[in-house]
Amino acid sequence: MKKCIPLSVPNLKGNELEYVTKAVEDEWVSSGGPYITAFEKGITEYVGAQGAVACQSGTAGLHLAMIVSGIGAGDEVIVPALTFIATVNPVKYTGAEPIFMDCDDSLCMDMSKVEQFCAEGCKFNGEKLINNRTEKQVKAIVVVHLFGNIADMDKLMEIADKYNLIVIEDSTEALGSYVTKGKYTGKFAGTIGKIGVYSFNGNKILTTGGGGMIVSDDEAILRRARHLSTQAKSDELYYIHDEIGYNYRMTNLQAALGLAQLEQLENFIKTKKENYYLYKERISKIPGLSILNFKDENRTNFWFYSLKCEEEYVLNRDEIIQYLSSKGIQSRPIWGLISEQKGYLNNQAYKIEKAKYYLKHIVNIPCSSNLTKEDVLYVVECLTNPELK
Ligand SMILES: *Cc1c(COP(=O)(O)O)cnc(C)c1O
Repeated sequence: MKKCIPLSVPNLKGNELEYVTKAVEDEWVSSGGPYITAFEKGITEYVGAQGAVACQSGTAGLHLAMIVSGIGAGDEVIVPALTFIATVNPVKYTGAEPIFMDCDDSLCMDMSKVEQFCAEGCKFNGEKLINNRTEKQVKAIVVVHLFGNIADMDKLMEIADKYNLIVIEDSTEALGSYVTKGKYTGKFAGTIGKIGVYSFNGNKILTTGGGGMIVSDDEAILRRARHLSTQAKSDELYYIHDEIGYNYRMTNLQAALGLAQLEQLENFIKTKKENYYLYKERISKIPGLSILNFKDENRTNFWFYSLKCEEEYVLNRDEIIQYLSSKGIQSRPIWGLISEQKGYLNNQAYKIEKAKYYLKHIVNIPCSSNLTKEDVLYVVECLTNPELK
């Protein structure tokens, strides 16, 4: 039989079927029910936040996070160029505009460039940071903890404090990662800024089919986000709505899946870690190939593995992807830079250099939490003996 090793797929061998069945038997399948509150409580306790609001997707969570942060038309928001587009689209949904920032060697946002942009590209009047180029206020920064690495939050929070910026953590890829060095030691990704957002899309470390969650320590923010996620209904009987809301609430069916998944999270991380080190050790022996490190300053969730290919290797990025595909192995380049996507071509991109380099040299290779050692060794073997076409 031809091998087929997908990039990142769900692992549903725990209590998923039992909980979903219970939700169906109890006829609680929609946007109310005990699994939603249990799942919110579960995530809240796991990451050590004050509270959480479950929603339909990470994208919806990011959109709510921006609205409750007061971001809107006329504002600007610093975002990474190297990320999935769902980090940035919600900025536009609110009417605000993104400013694209470069990455560092961890692929997360380069904080020295953020600092340089704030100091040299803007003026700070003691209250507002004003972009010299547009005369608009830079109000917030959406930091992404890419592939499970946590961005440099010590530095970011210092900058945010100095320039009065709101920090939203796009932690959609980093559920389970926490800081092990510096001021925020012990803090989970998503719990350091004002608001953190997780995703439970099918390719993430936990899945609810589709879903997301906001966490924060600010009760007022959580209350407003929950209110907005349920059409901003202020009277249940008469259907009175006190502002324009959204249909963003998670369903009990999704939450049933999520709760069962959460029970297995630490096991998923353990398997992903073992596979990561197996890949890393074996691939380090192939000239021109390596696996990018995760940062020493965190306990990462090992979500996505980044294979770096340099000129020494016989195949380039695109040839590797094609070749692996011919062997039944799914792999992918990183996303096209958001600053180069239609819809964003007119937005400011600040000294984007490393993101362009990494885009050309990184391939994400299979990393599912149900990937076996044999699968890893097969991928390594294929990479070791690339058959030239
Ligand atoms: C997955 C992801 C999102 C969006 O999550 P959805 O649940 O798919 O809407 C946002 N940002 C990043 C970086 C992601 O990887």
